[in-house]
Amino acid sequence: MTPPRNSNAVRDIASVLHPYTDGRAHQKNGPLVITRGEGVRVFDEQGNSYIETVAGLWCASLGFSNERLVEAATRQMRQLPFYHGFTGRSHEPQIELAEMLLERAPAPMSKVFFANSGSEANDSAIKMIWYFNNATGRPQKKKIIARIKGYHGVTLAAASLTGLPANHKLFDLPIAGIHHVSTPHHYHGANEGESEEDFATCLADELEEVILREGPDTVAAFFAEPIMGAGGVIVPPATYFEKVQEVLRRHDVLFVADEVICGFGRTGEYWGSQAFGIQPDILTCAKALSSSFLPISAVMVNERVFEGLADGSESVGTFGHGFTYSGHPVPAAVAVETLKIYDEMNLVAHVQSVAPALQDGLRQRFGDHPLVGEVRGRGLIAAVELVEDKAARRNFDPARKIAPRLSKIAESHGLIMRFLPGDGIAFSPPLIITEAEIHDMLDRFGRALDELQ
Ligand code: PLP
Repeated sequence: MTPPRNSNAVRDIASVLHPYTDGRAHQKNGPLVITRGEGVRVFDEQGNSYIETVAGLWCASLGFSNERLVEAATRQMRQLPFYHGFTGRSHEPQIELAEMLLERAPAPMSKVFFANSGSEANDSAIKMIWYFNNATGRPQKKKIIARIKGYHGVTLAAASLTGLPANHKLFDLPIAGIHHVSTPHHYHGANEGESEEDFATCLADELEEVILREGPDTVAAFFAEPIMGAGGVIVPPATYFEKVQEVLRRHDVLFVADEVICGFGRTGEYWGSQAFGIQPDILTCAKALSSSFLPISAVMVNERVFEGLADGSESVGTFGHGFTYSGHPVPAAVAVETLKIYDEMNLVAHVQSVAPALQDGLRQRFGDHPLVGEVRGRGLIAAVELVEDKAARRNFDPARKIAPRLSKIAESHGLIMRFLPGDGIAFSPPLIITEAEIHDMLDRFGRALDELQ
């Protein structure tokens, strides 16, 4: 049936350039228009309800309705709808939020810089590292190492860190000085019979080889998500981060933990860094920081980095970086309220209590499925990887368009799903999800998967 001329679908096709969308296919298929949310569910124009299996974009941690966050935003808008932080101006929401983040940090941190998105946070971190090394008399120490399949955003520098072809091809990226090392994915990357520990040693050796090849005095930082999210929900092999950190310490390379997905309970610890024994020098976070009710991100830096930045700005006269909306009072107030809610709901204990329903449920129900190669994850983040050939661990031929097909089927079963490169299907529901809702989500997924066969 052709939609009416004034429908949202027709207007959308005529007017919106969508992020991360196949432009030609969209002209044909049109949008799924969502009109409202409630708990872990969203509703479309026809009133159909969907469980949001990935909390939107791994971000709506408190779900799609929360009166306290609405009130926090309204209160702040009435009191002071905007102020900025340039030239030392401030306001209480950003001060309170910075204090709360420092109290909760997984390693000793000194100061918090605010931005509006994960990409901006990562770009800011890169600029801070360059500035820090210039200020501390090491202007040649600028190269950054990230990982294939890592995801760090889409602005020029963050997209360069990202290790996915779609983010580089046709964009003339990455920029110079960014290097990528192997994905820590045991299922695909390890040799036959190789233990996780031995695989981790190989990966740490590879990292050290790259640092030595480039020259340790030219390598500034290593960026990593504790669990790779958008690249496929890849959980590192045992001992990986321990060994990586030894290498970095040997060569005075800063560790930047990108906690944009893993931060705030997602992995079953408050920070992904705590799940893997990471002691970052710099930490970036966003998304669940405000439960995504409003955009805000943060970069935490340790004392050493802060001192370098402060020395640098003294010599130049200013730290010449910041956004109009850095620390915007309204998202900051919403983030403060979000962190209070996390404390009250005992976030980490809650995630740990419902996580087995997701992790064991996925493994028990789909681990042996002929189309499932691997089920992986931790806490409330997981992926089911589809394979055409289970024994050979071979993914589907892209021509079979498995992702859009399963996506459509899943929608008809009341699920909005997210597909990842390498035929991974992500599960990263709102953290407020109950065990009963997890069972419901997996029942629906099972029915959708059976229909695909
Ligand atoms: N870092 C990670 C780990 C992410 O998953 C994302 C987005 O998904 C980003 C950075 C970029 O964040 P944003 O889309 O807010 O720029």
